[in-house]
Amino acid sequence: MYKDGQKVTYFEIIDEKGVIESPFNYYEDACTRLEELQQEGFTFTGNIKIIEVHWIGSLRRFNKMTTKKDACRQWVEGFNAIPYSLIKKAYPNLSEDGLEILVTEKECGYCGNTEFEENEDGKEYCTSCERLTEEYGYNERWDLPMWGTLWTFGESFDEEWARGNLEKLRQCGFWVYDSNELGILIGIDGAGYDFYEAHWIPLYEARGLRWHDEE
Ligand SMILES: [Zn+2]
Repeated sequence: MYKDGQKVTYFEIIDEKGVIESPFNYYEDACTRLEELQQEGFTFTGNIKIIEVHWIGSLRRFNKMTTKKDACRQWVEGFNAIPYSLIKKAYPNLSEDGLEILVTEKECGYCGNTEFEENEDGKEYCTSCERLTEEYGYNERWDLPMWGTLWTFGESFDEEWARGNLEKLRQCGFWVYDSNELGILIGIDGAGYDFYEAHWIPLYEARGLRWHDEE
């Protein structure tokens, strides 16, 4: 069985009536099996999907009520915290030393201001020079965030998701870097408030995790 707190990720083939077959360790295996089922003429109901399932072994096993914050905390505790002292030794000049900047703070491509709003057409413009982002572009601020730790994800699934969802990470308030040595690193430009409420739970929600009991 599963160890306490062990995170489990697997895939399931489902249709609108429920689970057809589960678990598959790899997405590709689920795809192959689905093709076989279709060739065999299996009768599906409605839409067929392959879903990625996450849960923490002990929570379900003991059937405890788990709040979203507790489930989120278990997820985040699986991340690796890397202090700036190490980051700065490894990458003293950030991108020149191999720490690629993916998401920090947007700076207007014309004037460098960092405040943006949307006009009545839903288009983002700089609040200082009033130029549209889509015309003048933007740059990412060349810096590390305020909080003196960067985190790497504990699981490659999460890292792959992050690579494909950089704007979601930005919306959750994360700055994002990439490196050959450590892969994706995320950080928080802030201090002195509850990171769970402001950043980690929004990230948990954006990631689509359901390790908590529904309220
Ligand atoms: Zn501007």
